Amino acid sequence: MPAKGELLYEGKAKRVYRTAEPDQYLVEFKDDATAFDGLKKGTITRKGEINARLSALFFQKLSRQGIPTHFIEQVGPRELLVRAVEIIPVEVVARNVAAGSLAKRLGLEEGTSLKRPVLEFYYKSDALHDPMINNYHIAALELATDTQVKEMESYAWKINTILTEFLKPANLVLVDFKLEFGLFHGHVLLADEISPDTCRFWDRTSMEKLDKDRFRRDLGGVEDAYEEVLHRVEGLPA
Ligand code: 5GP
Repeated sequence: MPAKGELLYEGKAKRVYRTAEPDQYLVEFKDDATAFDGLKKGTITRKGEINARLSALFFQKLSRQGIPTHFIEQVGPRELLVRAVEIIPVEVVARNVAAGSLAKRLGLEEGTSLKRPVLEFYYKSDALHDPMINNYHIAALELATDTQVKEMESYAWKINTILTEFLKPANLVLVDFKLEFGLFHGHVLLADEISPDTCRFWDRTSMEKLDKDRFRRDLGGVEDAYEEVLHRVEGLPA
């Protein structure tokens, strides 16, 4: 594993280190879990390892399907080597089924399937609690250029199609997910992570939640749900 250099960033779920290569960072996934802007704190045993592995598998799948990502290789049980992107402060959320904040905001019963998928942007700001924004806000605040926004949108739709299909044989529904993108030598790359922390995965048959909502909503069986998703995804053909 490349040596961990200066700790550049420590977030709720990950640490990002410099490496000897200026163009490469090392991301370490933690077992710590938070929800509701850090109000709820806990740990999920093996979460770091599971999310690192799942992110690696999803990034590999997406790269093979033509999505440029920051992922280089998995270098440790909870460590990914990635391209040293500068994160664009816009979270891109795609939704196929009403859940979470969308269900609440629009008064839809959780589980209502949407006639068409929905894409949303949020301003990545802890101080402001990640407010929802639109293309105009992104331009006004110069969070990204119009071209970069179009690229993020186009990648998000493609990712939704690829992952929805990929997860079907695992009997998982991709309800919704959050993506982050970064800039690397002027190019937009998919960054951050793709895991049960950042996606809603429901069992297709029972509609049981197999993601961080089990932690957020005190549903129990959190560790088992993360293990189950890993087990099912590892069993999928590449
Ligand atoms: P919602 O807006 O319903 O809370 O979240 C929509 C989807 O995006 C869910 O899959 C959720 O896990 C993910 N998501 C949105 N914002 C965040 C965030 O700040 N952190 C994480 N881990 N996931 C988020």
